[in-house]
Amino acid sequence: MEQEIYDIAVIGGGPVGMFTAFYASLRHVKTILVESLATLGGQVTALYPEKTILDVAGFSGIKGSAFIAELDKQLHLFPVDIKTETTVVNVEQTGELFTVTTDVGEPFQAKKVIITTGKGAFEPRKMQVEGVDELVGQGVHYFVTHKQDFANHHVAIAGGGDSAVDMATMLNQVTASTTIIHRRDNFRAMEQSVLALEQSTVIRETPKKITHIEKENNGQLKITLEQVKDSDSVSDILVDDLIINYGFISENKTIQGWAIQPEISGQVFKVDQAMQTSVPGIFAVGDASHYSGKSDLIAIGFGEAPHAVNAAIRQFDPLRGGPGHSSSMVLKDGTIS
Ligand SMILES: Cc1cc2nc3c(=O)[nH]c(=O)nc-3n(C[C@H](O)[C@H](O)[C@H](O)COP(=O)(O)OP(=O)(O)OC[C@H]3O[C@@H](n4cnc5c(N)ncnc54)[C@H](O)[C@@H]3O)c2cc1C
Repeated sequence: MEQEIYDIAVIGGGPVGMFTAFYASLRHVKTILVESLATLGGQVTALYPEKTILDVAGFSGIKGSAFIAELDKQLHLFPVDIKTETTVVNVEQTGELFTVTTDVGEPFQAKKVIITTGKGAFEPRKMQVEGVDELVGQGVHYFVTHKQDFANHHVAIAGGGDSAVDMATMLNQVTASTTIIHRRDNFRAMEQSVLALEQSTVIRETPKKITHIEKENNGQLKITLEQVKDSDSVSDILVDDLIINYGFISENKTIQGWAIQPEISGQVFKVDQAMQTSVPGIFAVGDASHYSGKSDLIAIGFGEAPHAVNAAIRQFDPLRGGPGHSSSMVLKDGTIS
């Protein structure tokens, strides 16, 4: 059977992969988007569907899940083949084309490949307190998928980064009380997020560390806190839930076993100004790419996507010109062509 040939294959259906595939379809090239998980949205869907995202253009604050729903609507404006629950297990160069093999179905070919696989599989950084692992699911959590699960609960959040601070102010809207526990006095989060925390009723236990957690007979958790640099200063708090928010660790094994091996920096792909990796015709954008000064933000990935798509098109269709503005595709009757 003849293999299907795409102009552009986008590997990874996180927010940046979704926008990359949409932008490719906007340029009217035959595009496929492949995602390992059952649902699109990458880290936003898996890790923070309830968080309000403030730093993407055009939204004055949007819940993670609603943001992905908007990206999904945009992705469906023009034809894109979307394969979920499909992991790319090999990419190899076959003459002018790349052959992409997945764990399900037939391999397909693509003129150019854009890698948007993020930083690979990730897992939460674990709390190093004896016995805490046994309490996961019994009041101790590493993930929050529905904030209403914590309605009227007394909740403690351990951590002091962006995600912990945002989680504290978000959950505080529904909890009976929210306490944030951090081992430093200063929180390492966006300035406006810290301001919002300071102006909220969230109780701040700083600079303190958790030394012991115990389940009480009434189901509550007794958390023992020790003042940093003063081990004699110890106190207990009682809560219904403890959410551990120490960030995530990832191990990028995405291209293990792939025939093509683009140069890596850290755990991600080194790219040039056109977002091309060291293998001509293979591009990387979003969290999967690295260059000097790179930040892992959705807005940055959205800026990188058109660079990669346009550069890829220039390679296989140098006479096409463009890109134009998307408004140039609106027909006289107002519909989008
Ligand atoms: C708790 C938290 C809060 C954050 N808050 C913000 C925020 O407020 N604003 C902001 O801009 N950024 C935020 N970020 C960062 C933001 O989520 C990332 O920058 C963004 O998700 C990167 O998108 P991506 O599409 O490049 O990668 P990801 O979102 O990591 O998506 C990669 C996708 O590729 C898939 N994949 C991997 N390997 C394969 C394979 N071999 N085959 C097929 N599919 C594959 C994965 O399943 C995944 O769905 C936050 C991150 C975290 C963890």
